[in-house]
Amino acid sequence: MNTFEKNLTRYMPPDWGFQFHGHRCPFMPLGYRMGIMALERMGLEREKNHGLHVFPELGEGHPQACLVDGIQIATGATLGKTLVEKTFWGKMAATFWYKDKTPIRFLMKPDFLDGFAPFEFFKYRKRGVEPSDIPPKVTQEVLDWTLSVPDEDVYEITERPDFVYTPPRGSFNKTKCSICGEYVFERYVRILDGKPVCIPCSGYRK
Ligand SMILES: [Zn+2]
Ligand SMILES: [Zn+2]
Repeated sequence: MNTFEKNLTRYMPPDWGFQFHGHRCPFMPLGYRMGIMALERMGLEREKNHGLHVFPELGEGHPQACLVDGIQIATGATLGKTLVEKTFWGKMAATFWYKDKTPIRFLMKPDFLDGFAPFEFFKYRKRGVEPSDIPPKVTQEVLDWTLSVPDEDVYEITERPDFVYTPPRGSFNKTKCSICGEYVFERYVRILDGKPVCIPCSGYRK
């Protein structure tokens, strides 16, 4: 098997992943690949519960943010389970953290990212064409190219023993806001004139 065939078998997201993501693009699969590699490196299974935490360094307003969906599809560390926390640094990297394991950071190499430039896909994107409106052949071409690049040319992987993280403690305690009467989980209760209130009623931002 050549690199492309090997990567196609290992790193092609399942159909439900594309359905969840909503369109075909090269970056969701690159996030998926990053997630699969991270699980392998850390000796983990796909996350069923709340063990694996991911800290993508992406921001907003750039198409590469699709990476984060791929990471969730591969690892089961999802936003809904509060296992994904973006740093909004606008960088194409993510750190994976699991209790008693050495955290690892994946960075998409600048030279690899430069390799996207000649592809038609980005000409469409730069003209403001949404991925679902780009001819499938054009998208497939760039996706296939990413799969033809070996792992070590796509990602720089670093161990981050310095990366310290303490997951928040779970709590089921909730209180009714004394103003609107809606339930609020205790970590979000604020006190106004000695009474418990929710954040919107409190006038505080956080
Ligand atoms: Zn996408
Ligand atoms: Zn309230």
